[in-house]
Amino acid sequence: MRYANVIINVKTRQLDKLFTYVIPPELRGNILAGHRVVVPFGKGQFIDGLVWSLSAEKPSFNVKPIVEKLPDDYMLGPTQLYIMQILRKRYAATYQEAYLAVLPSVQKLDKNLLYSVTRPFDDYTIGHVITKRELIELYSQTEINAKLKAGYLSKQTKFDFKHKNKTVEWVKPLYLDVAEALARIGQRAVKKRRIIKHMAHLKRLPLRDLTAATRATRRDILALVNSGFLAVEQQIENYAISNYTATTPTTQHKPLSAEQQRVVEQYEALKAPRAALLIGVTGSGKTWVYIELAKQALQLGKQVLVLVPEISLTPQLVARFSEQLTTDIGVIHTYIRPADKVNIYQRIKTGDIKVVIGARSAIFAPFKQLGLIVIDEEHEYSYKSETIPRYQAVELALQLAHKLSIDILLGSATPSIQTHHLVDTGRLKALYLKNAFGPAQLSDIKIVDMTALPKDTLLSSLLTDAITACFARREQVILFHNRKGYARSKQCRSCGYVHMCQNCAVPLTVYEGGNQFVCHYCGYREPQLTKCPNCGNQLVEIGFGIEQIQQRLSVLFPTKTFAVVDSDLTHNQAKYIDTLTAFKAGQIDGLIGTQILAKGLDFANVTLVGVILADQLIHMPDYLSSESAYQLLTQVAGRAGRGDKPGVALIQTYQPEHPLFDFVIKRDFDAFIKEEKQLRDIVGYPPYVTLFTVKIQSENKIAAHQQAQRLYAFYDKNFKRNNIEAQIFQPIQPYYARIRHRYRAQLLFKVKKESRSAVLTMLYYGIVQNKYNLVDSKCWVDIDFDG
Ligand code: ADP
Ligand code: ZN
Repeated sequence: MRYANVIINVKTRQLDKLFTYVIPPELRGNILAGHRVVVPFGKGQFIDGLVWSLSAEKPSFNVKPIVEKLPDDYMLGPTQLYIMQILRKRYAATYQEAYLAVLPSVQKLDKNLLYSVTRPFDDYTIGHVITKRELIELYSQTEINAKLKAGYLSKQTKFDFKHKNKTVEWVKPLYLDVAEALARIGQRAVKKRRIIKHMAHLKRLPLRDLTAATRATRRDILALVNSGFLAVEQQIENYAISNYTATTPTTQHKPLSAEQQRVVEQYEALKAPRAALLIGVTGSGKTWVYIELAKQALQLGKQVLVLVPEISLTPQLVARFSEQLTTDIGVIHTYIRPADKVNIYQRIKTGDIKVVIGARSAIFAPFKQLGLIVIDEEHEYSYKSETIPRYQAVELALQLAHKLSIDILLGSATPSIQTHHLVDTGRLKALYLKNAFGPAQLSDIKIVDMTALPKDTLLSSLLTDAITACFARREQVILFHNRKGYARSKQCRSCGYVHMCQNCAVPLTVYEGGNQFVCHYCGYREPQLTKCPNCGNQLVEIGFGIEQIQQRLSVLFPTKTFAVVDSDLTHNQAKYIDTLTAFKAGQIDGLIGTQILAKGLDFANVTLVGVILADQLIHMPDYLSSESAYQLLTQVAGRAGRGDKPGVALIQTYQPEHPLFDFVIKRDFDAFIKEEKQLRDIVGYPPYVTLFTVKIQSENKIAAHQQAQRLYAFYDKNFKRNNIEAQIFQPIQPYYARIRHRYRAQLLFKVKKESRSAVLTMLYYGIVQNKYNLVDSKCWVDIDFDG
């Protein structure tokens, strides 16, 4: 094939198409779909791109040649290319957005400006290449311009990888006889003599160790290399998982329970490609089923991908996998150093790394032979991307597995209704683990009726007594409350003033016992404020957060230690792991935290879980509210009683009669989900319809509003005209109407499954490509999906 259709790495929403280039003779036969290349684009510019397809036919227009092919190590693999197709088809991504989504950011290219010497000047000879930095150190911009003009220099762009493998420089002695070497060096070169002596009996030594041991410089060593005494060689230093995992004590591997064994067998017996949903109560040992299946896939020489909601929150799972498997595990998350990431991706590509554990974007890794995908806690919202392309990783994985014949297993104690619906339609086989592993018993869930207590009560006496008793037994507690900081906001009781963020239409959250204001949306901070700026009266704190609970507990239990666990803590990985390790070791008696605590933590000595205010969960303005409340309460309750001691979960609420609690207490997932499905079917919510939300933002309030109206009118008319079964709702203002200085508006579409792709196509042309000039230049418009 002589021509390549290339995805160009420039932001071209309106110009979302492939560009054709000639494959130069020397590269013919060596370029395939998935290769990354450098091509000319625009006037005298070069740009990187991805070969998407090849063709034999000469286009009718003039085409330019591909300039450079990047090394095969950086080629995209089959899973990545297929995912790009799904991103385009299902999530309206442009070619470039799909390309950048699957390309590991550490494999991106840096564009550097270089100058090559075209006529000799000063010390430079023809052909010498000088970096821009070097040049501006030596010459002024006027001098450089003059040299360019007079033909001494010419500009060229050079692409280079942003990040590289970490390498170690090893020094090797080349001399045989120390005495002779020393004699040749002479008495005066003291440092060089030290180096020669030090290396005399060594085969090789890292250069950095040698400089440290001899107090010599790199330059001294290189001088000895130049004169033939030493050699220096580079060696890639492989990433080591031990730099990133917690040093939790090892868990002894016991044989799988009969129930676990049965699940493994049932899964194995499925027709390939296997696709199942493991519904296993908390503490049933789902992780160990995953490990067993991973072992079997490894034996067949296949690679395994394990997706977890947020990898930084699950150090325990990573530790367990790495203890039980002998192969290297590639862990992918934001805290992995770039050089290590380069190494991980390269070894995934060669097949050297066989097990990959990561959050949703790990699905984009360049697998060579992916044989099994495991998705833990599949119900978690973090599988949905918050940025463009707004894919849903579980859905993406299911499609990928189906198309490329990869086995897949989703697991959860509380599967999402979306996923569970696939059991109804026959796409997934349901497998069950109904008992907790070993001697553990499912915790007892009890509702604490708060109706007789004043509003804003932190701890009922029932909960306080339970904590006292728990500590008396030398056991530990976990308390859950879904609000960070000290208080939700500060308000004025006299005039109703609420202290708001400067940049957002959002009340500021109170931190540090009332001394700090922080905006959760834009990070804006402000010192304390005590008087109302409106009327001068005292401001009061409204709605308590986890800091306040910690403060109260420290007063009630002065000899006990408590730690707060929220997203701020998890952003400090080392500190988070330290906190968990200290808790495991019993140096901390109680954890107080947000929903982060619901995510798979496993501590045998925790026998009491408290939910401070369940009401907060059941009243979210969202159709998912019941589902997520059910999930959170069940998951949090599942943190108690995981060892051999029984556990209790106490749920405080002002609405003890709420029907949801009945399902939670009985752990009657089937009944809950049946009722919830019926409701959604009647009212028209996913999984029975797809919701498209068109999100509009603008710094101009009126523009945002007008944009919404314009899109509404256009689509309303066109759906009717084309008989598309889709409901479109009048534009609304989202709950927070302004974030980071941008006003927001949104449009909701409810679409029957059969019409999903027709509607998406219309949204894509109208909004992404702006074919009908619908999108005002003052607005940002994008499409979000649900179902
Ligand atoms: P889940 O993810 O289903 O909530 P886990 O996989 O964390 O449950 O398992 C619950 C507890 O049981 C953990 O402490 C785990 O180490 C233990 N466990 C489960 N299966 C085994 C096994 N085969 N050998 C040793 N420990 C196990
Ligand atoms: Zn803000």
